Amino acid sequence: MQRLPFFLPMVRCPRRCVYCDQGEITGIGRIPSPEDVARALSSLDGPREVCYFGGSFTCLPPDRRTAYLSAVLNAPKGSTVRFSTHPECITGQVLSELAPYPVSMVELGISSLDDSVLAVCNRGYTGRLVLDTMALVLARKFALCAQMMIGLPGQTEESSREDLRRMAAMKGAAPMTLRIYPCLVLENTPLARSHASGSYSPLSVDEAVLWAGRLLHEARHLGFAVQRIGLQESESLARSVIAGPHHPAFGELAAAEALVWSLLERNPEGPWSVDGTLVSQLTGHGKYGIRRLAERSGLTVRAVEERLVFTSAGGAKGAAALP
Ligand code: SF4
Repeated sequence: MQRLPFFLPMVRCPRRCVYCDQGEITGIGRIPSPEDVARALSSLDGPREVCYFGGSFTCLPPDRRTAYLSAVLNAPKGSTVRFSTHPECITGQVLSELAPYPVSMVELGISSLDDSVLAVCNRGYTGRLVLDTMALVLARKFALCAQMMIGLPGQTEESSREDLRRMAAMKGAAPMTLRIYPCLVLENTPLARSHASGSYSPLSVDEAVLWAGRLLHEARHLGFAVQRIGLQESESLARSVIAGPHHPAFGELAAAEALVWSLLERNPEGPWSVDGTLVSQLTGHGKYGIRRLAERSGLTVRAVEERLVFTSAGGAKGAAALP
């Protein structure tokens, strides 16, 4: 279903996370009221997934929250609503209040489950609280998405891989979605001051792609669906990033890295049979995937290309050729 996002930047956030400036990420000046939303939805020609992003939706006072949810009922039949929120603002009572509405997804901005990272980022909760909150959301049968970050102050790659393992153990066989965002240094944030003083060094694009690619590969192994890697590009975001792994094709590079992990796992030296729909993951961005496969397998680029066999959707070989 087509999405229709409404941004409520930093609305009712319990505190300011050190890296955050949602106003700049989303490029939104004025926050739409429930009446604005209802008006916009009443003129649509078909159902939409209405999204309230950029703030801590369930931290809103109950009457305001209800007003935004009720506004969704003005959308054409079959429409649903999803929102992002802060783990501290999900309780059994809040979930009961959400139950009558067509909620398609609860997105929890978790950042990390590592208590030392959470403390440095001023998130104000522990990894245990997040895991308990996620378990509660799943127990109430809401679809759940966790927004993770990489490259946060004090965070290591191993710490974020441990986060994945803890979430996998918590969810068991339940479906769960992830978004993975690299930590960027935005103007006028506490993190920008740490960067200026030298106490925080962001990841480079290369480092972040390697980290995100491996995390994506492991997430798939552990049964997570990964919905997005990297922030949505916007002029406002591009303007306000002063350091860090900002790249318009970040998600594609990370997907290529994850594909390389899975090919090498299947066969360290090839030949590799690859679905034809994934050709661009290997050939795009100056053959990034092929070059990584060469680097990691110890083969030449030419030898890697000779060992790649692309198949059509039905599995027939040779249906797609390297450009
Ligand atoms: S990261 Fe999320 S919770 Fe933190 S200040 Fe930004 S919008 Fe609010």
